[in-house]
Amino acid sequence: MSLADYKGVLVYIEQRNKEIQKVSIELLGKGKEIADKLGEKLSAVIIGYDVKNLAQELIYYGAERVIVVDDKILENFITEPYTKALTAVINDEKPEVVLVGATSIGRDLSPRVSARVHTGLTADCTSLDIDEETKQLLMTRPAFGGNIMATIICPDHRPQISTVRPGVMLKPHKDTSRTGEIIDFDAGLLPTDVNIEILEIVKEDKKKVNIEDAKLLISAGRGIGSKENMVHLYELAEELKGEVSGSRAVIDNGWLDKERQVGQTGRTVRPDLYFACGISGAIQHVAGMEESELIIAINKNPDAAIFEVADIGIVGDVSKVIPLLTEEIKKL
Ligand code: FAD
Repeated sequence: MSLADYKGVLVYIEQRNKEIQKVSIELLGKGKEIADKLGEKLSAVIIGYDVKNLAQELIYYGAERVIVVDDKILENFITEPYTKALTAVINDEKPEVVLVGATSIGRDLSPRVSARVHTGLTADCTSLDIDEETKQLLMTRPAFGGNIMATIICPDHRPQISTVRPGVMLKPHKDTSRTGEIIDFDAGLLPTDVNIEILEIVKEDKKKVNIEDAKLLISAGRGIGSKENMVHLYELAEELKGEVSGSRAVIDNGWLDKERQVGQTGRTVRPDLYFACGISGAIQHVAGMEESELIIAINKNPDAAIFEVADIGIVGDVSKVIPLLTEEIKKL
């Protein structure tokens, strides 16, 4: 088979409890852009049990074809049967590009699938594009501890597989007038493919915050000074109905939980408004928040790097500026 035999873009749709994960919708948006540049079709593959009714939604978000692998065996995510199912779809479809969310499931699935279809994988990408001349996928991700952004290509094998972090790509517009093809796929799964037994499923604590979904984030840096001073941020967050997040320094100091860390080794966020309070603006932090709609930075050092990405900069002491701001907002 030659590389030219591979056609189209395939997005792996992650569902949990029959709920499509946001990152998969974001990837449909990016996938469509790539498919258009290649002049090819965008397909989605959804794997699970009783999930066919989700296919139409994927068409509304841009998929022209939806491949459904529906089997009782696939009710819960188990590495082996899901790997077998996705591998079978890729071997049958021969897509040129495969996109997977860099979630815990995507990170488990994609290296195994890549190995089985004998191609490479570029993990944790923050940007994807098509080289206009060679038509190759340009997969960009932070490398060397976030000190450089590396653009990686997969010149000799197909498909070109990439995982992308949630929150990095924009969610596409939903258009309910879109139509597409829904295809049932038999992956040839056998009961013996299930090599583990699920004894108990512990439901995620619903109260757990997901800072990736927050519209407004008040983010703390080491400049906050102490865990006690975090109270100023909680007060502002309450007034503005936002969530509190932080830099790695704050998480390492134990002032916030790890799930609230923004940055390369934390979450990628894109809120409407991001307050960076006492954050220096290290590249590993900025990589996780620079796509925010509006960035307001407060820092006592006028030369802090965070001011380079901020839309509004306030030079001052956070422990004075934040309470003043909260007071003024309360008056509105
Ligand atoms: P600092 O860099 O110490 O900055 C504190 C800032 O507060 C300074 O700019 C200072 O001027 C200001 N300040 C001090 N006092 C006040 C005051 N009273 N009022 C106003 N301003 C004040 N970091 C992340 O955030 N997220 C990541 O995911 C992440 N991943 C990493 C991955 C790797 C592989 C590596 C090597 C590093 C990573 N880091 C990450 C760490 C990153 O390099 C920085 O060390 C970290 O972001 C610094 O956090 P900070 O800005 O809160 O603290």
